[in-house]
Formats: sequence, C-alpha cells, structure tokens
Amino acid sequence: MAKVLCVLYPDPVDGYPPAYARDDIPSVTFYADGQTAPTPTGPLGFRPGELVGCVSGELGLRSYLEQAGHELIVTSDKDGPGSEFERLLPEAEVVISQPFWPAYLTADRIAKAKNLKLALTAGIGSDHVDLAAAARAHITVAEVTGSNSISVAEHVVMMALSLVRNYLPAHQTAVEGGWNIADCVSRSYDIEGMHFGTIGAGRIGLAVLRRLKPFGLHLHYTQRHRLDSTIESELNLTFHPDVLSLVKSVDIVNLQVPLYPSTENLLNESTFAQMKQGTYLINCARGKLVEREAVVQALQSGHIAGYAGDVWFPQPAPADHPWRTMPFNGMTPHMSGTSLSAQARYAAGTLEILQSYFEGTRIREEYLIVDGGELAGTGAHSYQLS
Ligand code: NAD
Repeated sequence: MAKVLCVLYPDPVDGYPPAYARDDIPSVTFYADGQTAPTPTGPLGFRPGELVGCVSGELGLRSYLEQAGHELIVTSDKDGPGSEFERLLPEAEVVISQPFWPAYLTADRIAKAKNLKLALTAGIGSDHVDLAAAARAHITVAEVTGSNSISVAEHVVMMALSLVRNYLPAHQTAVEGGWNIADCVSRSYDIEGMHFGTIGAGRIGLAVLRRLKPFGLHLHYTQRHRLDSTIESELNLTFHPDVLSLVKSVDIVNLQVPLYPSTENLLNESTFAQMKQGTYLINCARGKLVEREAVVQALQSGHIAGYAGDVWFPQPAPADHPWRTMPFNGMTPHMSGTSLSAQARYAAGTLEILQSYFEGTRIREEYLIVDGGELAGTGAHSYQLS
C-alpha cells in the first residue's frame, strides 16, 4: 500500500461544489502536435467540467487509489515546517502537486522524503521540484504535458489584446459609472501591424503564434531548438539567435520558457533597457523568469507600457507583492492552466500516470521530466539541471 500525498488549492470561498456556468465542455482527444490527450483505463472519478483542482475535488483520484489499496491524503497546507505537507512528506511514496498552488519540493524537503519515488505535477511546469536533487535521489518527476497548453495560449492572446487595447482600465471606467472616452483611449492601440515575439516556441509558444497570425502581426521567436522551416514559412516567422536580438525588435514580448537555474531573471534591468519604449510584456510561464523589482521600475518610468501574466513567486503571492499594484498591470492569480477544461485533461493525465506507475507500465515518454537519475523525455528537451 502506498501513501499518496496530494496538494491542491483551497475550495471556493462559498463552498464546494460551485454553481457551474455550463453543463458540459468540448471533448479534446488530440493535441496540435498529434499527441493523444490522456488515456487512463477504467472510469474517471469525475465528470469532465467539474472543479477537481481544489481540495474537495481531489482530482477525482480517490476511487481509483482506494480500490487499488492505496491511501490518498489531500491537503492545501503546504508551506512552512509545521505544514501538513511537510509533516506527512517522510511517509509519502507519491507526491502530487499543481503549479498553481505549488508544494515546493526543495533539496531540503527531498532529503526528508525518504520514501518518495514519484513527484507528479498535475499540470505543466515542474520547477517547483528541485530537479537536480530529485535526479540525485532517483525520484521520477512527471507532468501532464500538453494538458493545458491551449488554455495558457488563449490566456496569452487575451492578455496581449487586453494590454494593447487598454481593456481593463476601460472596463473599470464602465463599472464605476464613468464615460470619459478620452481617458479610455489615451493608451489604447490596435495590435494589427505590431511585432510580437515569443521567447520559447514550444507547445504553448507555438500555439500563441498560430493564434495571433490572423491578427496581422509580424511574428518573431527565439528558442533553443529552431522550428521546422515549414512552420517558419507558414507563419512567416523571424527567428532570433538570442533573447536580446528579439526584445530589441518587437513591441510585445511573451515569455514561454521553463524556469531552471540559468533562466532565472532572464528578463532583468539590462534586458528592459534594450527594449523599445512602450514595449508590452506577457508572462504566463514563471514569475522568477523576470526580475521582480526591475519590472516595477520599468512600468513606473513608462519604458514598459504594460505587464500581464498569472505567475508569481512565491505562490500564493503575499498581499503586499508589488506586482499586484504596479501601474499598467493585468495580473491574475495563477489560473490560465487550470480552467475547468484544462482540469479535465490534467486530472485524467494524473490518473494515467498513476496507473502506469502502480501497474508497472512505462510512463509516456512525453510526460517524463526526470527519470533514472537524469532529465528524460520532455525534461531532456526543455530543461537544464543548472
Ligand atoms: P515546452 O517544453 O513545449 O516548450 C518550452 C520550449 O522552451 C522548448 O521548446 C525549449 O527548446 C525552449 N527553451 C528551453 N530553455 C530555453 C532557453 N534558455 N532559451 C530559449 N528557449 C528555451 O513547454 P510548454 O508546454 O510550451 O510550456 C512552457 C512553460 O510554460 C512551462 O515550462 C511552464 O513553466 C509554463 N506553463 C505555465 C502554465 C500556466 O498555467 N501559467 C501552464 C503550463 C505551462
């Protein structure tokens, strides 16, 4: 019998379950790159479209795990030495966590997790796990690759339009009973004809480029692996050999690379100085990719025209985190990858990975980040240990 410790975000403040706006969600069986959506065997422990990412939703895992004789413990209490997570960690064989409410598996915590064999990310992005320490401890790290890529891509497109068109301040004017059109439009532009660049054009970054193409933007990208020339010509992409070349050339910068030690503070005071006056910045990748105070200063000086995103450090962000109140921001709590649509896929993918692990079949290569003491699968393509 294994102990499965699952850390999820708290229930809605008005109680669980919430009142749903819709009865169902579209079914997605394949992703754009041909990968199949999760294929667990047997019944799902939830109805697609239900809120399963919070504590009471339990990712719908209880029936499968208990029928197989395992113990499931679900908590949102994850931070500090007195937390339930830290108290139960030494006994856990499997830890499940979501990037939206990350249970940080630091090297210190991994040293205490003597029974841990599998750190499973219900979602995408496993930087809340110290991957080098996990590799040394021969812990497998896996995530549900592809499950919320389009969810995030849609959020990025929304944020690009919202920032450039000045949507949020204009909406606030309407809510507050105002009608000063001049105030609404003094910072409002069309994105048509602008130059948009993504740092990272993997599953999400490429989906963003594809979705922005019909808006008539000039599209740019930089990343470790150059895209196929057919994709470059289909989208009329400009490839940049490095981040500086890209940020100097575009009006809107999107961050879509994983966080690992050498991408921390990828955008910092000196990178901001190279950007054009009035550049917009979108970050739905990870908060630590951007130097926290530098972005506040760049917005205050007016050099950066707007910053939107949903990723912070730490998470949950403290009430006095400066990104909550800095000028011209369109921040949300970390939510883009956990729409009800995304949850249905990553909960099913979590079940699929658990079934592979407990039933002794190989976890899909594309779900692996660390395995056998080294980066593996998607991890080997997208991450570095230093
Ligand atoms: P992916 O693995 O498909 O693509 C990442 C790309 O980044 C890879 O193609 C890789 O070549 C490139 N890359 C890695 N390091 C680089 C570097 N230093 N410079 C340039 N390129 C580099 O990943 P994805 O599914 O597109 O997700 C990207 C990131 O988005 C995740 O790692 C995660 O942090 C974040 N994410 C956020 C949410 C959310 O809810 N906000 C959800 C999913 C993923």
